[in-house]
Amino acid sequence: MENAIDAGATDIRLFIKDAGRELIQVVDNGKGMSPMDARMSFERHATSKIRQIDDLFSIRTMGFRGEALASVAAVARIELKTRTSEDEAGTLLVIEGSEVKVQEPVACNTGTVISVKDLFYNVPARRKFLKSNTVEYKHIVEEFSRVAMAYPHISFSLHHNNAAQFQLPSGNLKTRIVDLLGSRVEKQLIPLQQETELLNITGFIGKPEAATRTRGNQYIFINNRFIRNAYLNHAIVSAYEGLIDKTAFPLYVLCFDIDPQRVDVNVHPTKQEVKFDDDHILYAYLQSAVKQVLAKNNVVPPIDFTLDENIQQLDAIRLPQSPEQQMKAGSGYLQQSFREKGKAFFIEKTDDFKQWQTQRSTFFPEMPEMPSAQQGTPSSVPESAPALSFGEESHTQQPVIQWREYLIGTVKSGLLLVHHRRAMERILYERFVQRIAAEQPLSQKVLFPSTFQVVPQDAALFEELLPELQQTGFDIQSLGQYTFAINGVPPDLAAGDEQAVLEEILEDLKHESKLQKDKYREAVLRTAVRRIPKPSVYHHEAAQALIDELFACAHPEHTPSGKLVFTIFPKEKMDSFF
Ligand code: ADP
Ligand code: MG
Repeated sequence: MENAIDAGATDIRLFIKDAGRELIQVVDNGKGMSPMDARMSFERHATSKIRQIDDLFSIRTMGFRGEALASVAAVARIELKTRTSEDEAGTLLVIEGSEVKVQEPVACNTGTVISVKDLFYNVPARRKFLKSNTVEYKHIVEEFSRVAMAYPHISFSLHHNNAAQFQLPSGNLKTRIVDLLGSRVEKQLIPLQQETELLNITGFIGKPEAATRTRGNQYIFINNRFIRNAYLNHAIVSAYEGLIDKTAFPLYVLCFDIDPQRVDVNVHPTKQEVKFDDDHILYAYLQSAVKQVLAKNNVVPPIDFTLDENIQQLDAIRLPQSPEQQMKAGSGYLQQSFREKGKAFFIEKTDDFKQWQTQRSTFFPEMPEMPSAQQGTPSSVPESAPALSFGEESHTQQPVIQWREYLIGTVKSGLLLVHHRRAMERILYERFVQRIAAEQPLSQKVLFPSTFQVVPQDAALFEELLPELQQTGFDIQSLGQYTFAINGVPPDLAAGDEQAVLEEILEDLKHESKLQKDKYREAVLRTAVRRIPKPSVYHHEAAQALIDELFACAHPEHTPSGKLVFTIFPKEKMDSFF
């Protein structure tokens, strides 16, 4: 069926006999194959769907590995009839156990009829493992429904033992849902439509009364492909909290349209499990979209709308409104990753932080305060930033391990993954800021002062930067002629790296279009900490101390340059793997 869709068919018929044991036949009116292609299509890894390397990164077709036909041909008797509109005669191919038995011209319609007969006739062990007809047929209907649901404009039919089971005329998603799930659901569907430049969601969710005791009416499609994803399912179900019984399953049919580059469909052989960049964004986005639609349709009483904090914050993804939000979003990694799309979306990711915070204060209430951490907030931090204070304790008893470039610990909601190097960037940045605030910039004398030369056009900017550089611990002296002596550097910086750091600072600032002077310090610090050496192997106690210092920072979540420092791999997600 997927191949028929890829071939542009507008009418696809599926004929089944004996729950698929005797016959699985797909008849399509797609573009068909030339005699040569027909022969080729059964070769392993033969696919017509990748023409150039770039196609691999933007796969929009259902198939692309060229494996399906070859695999089926190995375990069944296959009969293929196919014709393109250009060819007068079609091609008949008969294949048994991967061997071509017949290849000859045949009269047939444009399109393809592929018949899979006597499944596993040559692999008795596997034939024996087919389930009862009821179960096998149920699987067929499930697969059929998933494909048919995703392509409502294509007409589909399913016939079992010569009796029509489904006749689905071409229509829209709503008519397709009703045709597949029954007219009972028609009045229970609430449309959901959310469009952003990053992704679109369209589809329907069921009113609470459409929820069922048994699973089955839950469909998520990513770029028209059905996927199972416990994490996204959880996002939807949680939006129904309080509206349906905890053991009930809400109805939903939601179609995501995402840039294929952001989805890796290749992680599971049946391609029903996918990985996204930015999973938690999708989660928040989806959950709020569903809540919003439920609220709008008065499924949630309006009084709750004003009371429920969660619902109040419905636009978990929204364009930053106030200047502070813009600033905060601008330094966030979300904004970084979305920038290409030209829009800054914005999610408050505070929940996990709150959890971390509560967990820590419940477990270690009596821990002594960390002396230095809380004084002085970096000047660059907008006032609106959530007041997070992780730093009351100096220890956690959670084991922290170092694995490659990550430190791994635990929090209540899952695994805490910290990017080691970036954590150090954040920590160093805040150390700098504190030293500057306390007017105690540390400078380490260099053994052999080096000279630093700037090109004339940068000289003015560099002169302007000098006071800021002094503040951070650079001891720099002008020698005239665009030449400077570096006598001292801030501690923590890689020795011998001073020139590179200064060059990078200049480079960075040159390209900032409209830089205000008061941003100089931030820019200097941001760049300076980016150049810290690669972290070495850590003793686990040191790793623990580092995590503690990180969470004592005013803004542990991002590096000063806006890169994500840590993430929490949620337990539900882990559960979904099992
Ligand atoms: P894939 O779909 O991954 O390319 P398949 O083994 O499913 O691999 O199919 C191999 C090739 O056979 C396809 O790339 C396509 O060119 C051709 N093909 C298969 N089924 C059809 C069909 N129904 N109509 C037209 N071409 C088809
Ligand atoms: Mg295929």
